[in-house]
Amino acid sequence: MDFGIKGKTALVCASSKGLGYGCAAALAEEGVNLVINARSEGPLNEAADVLRSRFGVKVTPVAADITTAQGREQVLAACDGSVDILVNNAGGPPPGMWTDWGRDDFIDAIDANMLTPIALIQALVPGMMARGWGRVVNITSQSVKAPIGVLGLSNTARTGLTGFVAGTSRQVAGAGVTINNLLPGIHATDRATALDNGVVQAKGITMEEARAERAATIPAGRYGTSEEFGAACAFLCSQHAGFIIGQNILLDGGGVNATF
Ligand code: NAP
Repeated sequence: MDFGIKGKTALVCASSKGLGYGCAAALAEEGVNLVINARSEGPLNEAADVLRSRFGVKVTPVAADITTAQGREQVLAACDGSVDILVNNAGGPPPGMWTDWGRDDFIDAIDANMLTPIALIQALVPGMMARGWGRVVNITSQSVKAPIGVLGLSNTARTGLTGFVAGTSRQVAGAGVTINNLLPGIHATDRATALDNGVVQAKGITMEEARAERAATIPAGRYGTSEEFGAACAFLCSQHAGFIIGQNILLDGGGVNATF
């Protein structure tokens, strides 16, 4: 299937590794030119080199913290005002206990996982609407559908973004712009390793045991991959997905046990 997006330009935030990288690679495979971003310059430049040489597209790396106003300014300046596809992503908030979080913890999480994607939508969607075509995909979490107790900061911030997208996506759809959320369940990335490490410490078990325990909670019996996550993102950004508006699509191997 030809996704029909060759030659378009995408900004993929937080994309030197993990799910963001998976999305960047899948879009590059479809011939999309990229602006990619992460805080650490070394891995970001390495990712850019790999994407250029594998797919022959233009890749502009911008080392910046996307959750800060200054970082977003740097990234937007590199986009040159003509982004067709926006993939919103950033690191997730740390785990913890609801009794320990104060106002500053909530503000940090809301800044990173709710207000940052909203700011980028506000910056880029008007241009997409003026050009009559655009795609926005927000990487959120299965915690939007099924809360994860220790990730209460994530539950809170991402649900706020989800509410914003539910309303806004319907306001911009008539101009040819779609906004949707992809909800990852457990995927084999550095983030998953960090969370597994917490279980290793807490339970005094090995990493293999921690992974096997978690994999056993997923009906598919395994962690997801960044490649399959990226493929779903590229489809949502394709010409074929223009009638998918304001949806929350779980990629979780069946982990969320629900009928709808
Ligand atoms: P990851 O493997 O840790 O990758 C994170 C990527 O984002 C790296 O390229 C990192 O590079 C970059 N990054 C992190 N914070 C950034 C910031 N403030 N500004 C710019 N770049 C930043 O994470 P992941 O597993 O792909 O997860 C992506 C998102 O999905 C996270 O929000 C996570 O909470 C959520 N999620 C993941 C899973 C899972 O199982 N993996 C499940 C549910 C939800 P630098 O460190 O160099 O900045």
